[in-house]
Amino acid sequence: MKFKQRLQEPARDLPVMGEHDVVVVGGGIAGVAAALAAARAGSKVCLLEKVCALGGLATVGNVIIYLPLCDGKGRQVIGGIGEELLRLSVEGEEPVPEIRVEPVPACWERGGDLEERKKHRFRTGYNPITYLYKLEHLLLKNRVTLLYDTRFCNVIKEGRHIRAVIVESKSGRTALLCKAVVDASGEADVCVAAGEKTPSIGGNVRCGWYYYVDARGQVRLRPLTDPGYMPNLRKPGVKYIDFRGDSAAQVTAHVLASREMMMADMEAIKAKEGGNPYPIMIPTIPCFRMSRRLSGKVTLKPTDDHRWFDDCLGMTGDWRKAGPIFCLPLRSLAAVNTANLITAGRCMSSTGDTWDVTRVIPTCAVSGEAAGAAAAFLAREDEDISFFDLDIPTLQKHLRRRRVIIDKSLLAQ
Ligand SMILES: Cc1cc2nc3c(=O)[nH]c(=O)nc-3n(C[C@H](O)[C@H](O)[C@H](O)COP(=O)(O)OP(=O)(O)OC[C@H]3O[C@@H](n4cnc5c(N)ncnc54)[C@H](O)[C@@H]3O)c2cc1C
Repeated sequence: MKFKQRLQEPARDLPVMGEHDVVVVGGGIAGVAAALAAARAGSKVCLLEKVCALGGLATVGNVIIYLPLCDGKGRQVIGGIGEELLRLSVEGEEPVPEIRVEPVPACWERGGDLEERKKHRFRTGYNPITYLYKLEHLLLKNRVTLLYDTRFCNVIKEGRHIRAVIVESKSGRTALLCKAVVDASGEADVCVAAGEKTPSIGGNVRCGWYYYVDARGQVRLRPLTDPGYMPNLRKPGVKYIDFRGDSAAQVTAHVLASREMMMADMEAIKAKEGGNPYPIMIPTIPCFRMSRRLSGKVTLKPTDDHRWFDDCLGMTGDWRKAGPIFCLPLRSLAAVNTANLITAGRCMSSTGDTWDVTRVIPTCAVSGEAAGAAAAFLAREDEDISFFDLDIPTLQKHLRRRRVIIDKSLLAQ
């Protein structure tokens, strides 16, 4: 965005709030997976999050369907933290159909029916409140330092390396020294600050998954989205309202328009069903599907379906249809010009229809685990090397030991 006026900010000393091997920016599913993977690989990790909860869209956005870990043909393509977080989402929960709390399908339990796995996808639906609480406990148990109500603002770079991230919180404007940074902000905020190329798209329609109490007193989930959220879903002649996620004005416009839509929807339900239905929980973060991302050395695209990359650090299926399998290469995660910056989640380098695959919860967990493990490996190095200098077979071996699926043979079948 171009501004008419600019001012020079006076230089000032910054207090150093801490020193960590790995700083993870953003506590959505990608950030949680990254922090966990880095901590388990031996790093001292700090995760900073601007709201006061973990999970991002997957909890405070009320988006509660943990999409599948399988390829739709009965084969599991996501393991590791992706599976751990899926199982955690429903651990100890009873099914509640009205709010779509749905357990792991029986066929996907150990020893489950292989034929049934072709008919039922490996997914869950969960309660966002109990889930965010479980995610917090998981990170604390793994000795991750959590900083809530803390907003990433900028980086301090020396040459091609980030030496510190600058944050703002109740402690004021402070710095966190670090050896590697994971950008799991969803909107590539760190990449922008570090001067990476970050394409941005419009096309975000109004949406708001909300909970309400119906006329009979039953809590229900309403998964409300304007149709046409992808260009290929749009009908000719229909006018869609598009928003971008890369400016304060656009974010605010999207939040306000989405809120109007939810309230109008509630009125329509009232008019149709009578009684006194009322909303009880609306999303409390902006709900953008795809807005701004890294432009990496590799940008995943539809023709990469079933393509092997030698630097593959995880795999994913396609939640929309059976068959496709994508590999997530290190080159689609690591920043191009900033040696110690790597992305995870919906701001990794992916485009078109394939962005709609890499942005969903299970795939964000895969890219998160890959980015977190890679960041921990980089932080161990004494030399100032870049993510592209890491020994890929060693990293793959580490991830496989953690039950991440990196299996070329899945692409041949
Ligand atoms: C309406 C809608 C419906 C969806 N439905 C589904 C579904 O049914 N199933 C599914 O699997 N996926 C679904 N998705 C997609 C999925 O929920 C998200 O894409 C995924 O959860 C993104 O995870 P993430 O960690 O990459 O990003 P986010 O969840 O966006 O997390 C990013 C985190 O970073 C924080 N942050 C951002 N900037 C800063 C900063 N500067 N400083 C500090 N913190 C910062 C944010 O507060 C947030 O917590 C849906 C998305 C939308 C919008």
